Amino acid sequence: MKNPTMTLIVHGGAYDIPLETHEAHMAGCRRAAEAGWALLKGGGSALDAVEAAVRILEDDPTYDAGYGSFLNANGEVEMDAIVMDGRNLDVGAVAAVQRVRNPVSLARLVMTESEHTMLAGAGAEAFAREHDIPICPVEELVTERERERWHIQSAGTPHEWDGNVRLQAVGLPSDTVGAVAIDAGGNVATATSTGGTFNKHPGRVGDSPLVGCGAYADNQTGAVSATGMGEALMKIVISKQVCDLIAAGMSAQEAADAAIAALAERTTGQGGVIAVDRLGRAGIAHNTPYIAHAYVSAGSEIVAGIRGPNAPMLSEMNK
Ligand code: ASP
Repeated sequence: MKNPTMTLIVHGGAYDIPLETHEAHMAGCRRAAEAGWALLKGGGSALDAVEAAVRILEDDPTYDAGYGSFLNANGEVEMDAIVMDGRNLDVGAVAAVQRVRNPVSLARLVMTESEHTMLAGAGAEAFAREHDIPICPVEELVTERERERWHIQSAGTPHEWDGNVRLQAVGLPSDTVGAVAIDAGGNVATATSTGGTFNKHPGRVGDSPLVGCGAYADNQTGAVSATGMGEALMKIVISKQVCDLIAAGMSAQEAADAAIAALAERTTGQGGVIAVDRLGRAGIAHNTPYIAHAYVSAGSEIVAGIRGPNAPMLSEMNK
């Protein structure tokens, strides 16, 4: 087998990303890729790289993850996150956490420091306290933009907005973030983090923290992170499906395309996936109007972009 090419891909959501926010989406994805890539280049693990990249995206209010997350029907942030290590299939996840700035790091701690795979709600926050992860007031994760969006929509006056607040239909997903990587040792890892869907029922958990749905990583196949309508993505266990298709002989791009085709065919949902296979070949596919992403691999510069419906395949990047 050819030596794997060290590669990192990040995404910042797949939906009808408003044109006026394209720059911010690309800039955030680029910063995240830079952080992850610096670690990989320095000999760091794929796991370190995806965590670092996702932390940058969680801290960036552009995205529906960490600071800037959508608010639920109670007007509160409730976040989900997952990490998976392709070396040993170890997984850590958190669901419906409210007072942690970087849920991805808490998910990693669940993976490494607990006997469990997923912790939810108050129990997850208690675990964070036990492990000296700072707990913040729930309001600290709420941006003015999201507070305003929530007030406008919950007041039932969707047209009274000042133009700075994007109208978000109830239940529609958007700016979830994720990263996949393969390191110099050929190890793959993935991380996904989200505030979930706007105005969701308190306690609603989407695909993001579910293994095989929001993410999957296996050194024998590749690593995948998904975004989109969680209720649909989990029906087809989309991230595991991409890995299974790679196992059946597809490249990352072919597998990503096939899984998104299955999403469109078997559900009414929209979404996107990023994938890297065990050779370091990259794949991005979506049936949403856009997906925000950044990509970098050994020997190439970081490319950040908003991929539209007719975007060329990543085949040129896979050579
Ligand atoms: N998949 C996420 C969820 O359903 C939302 C998103 O990707 O934007 O919670």
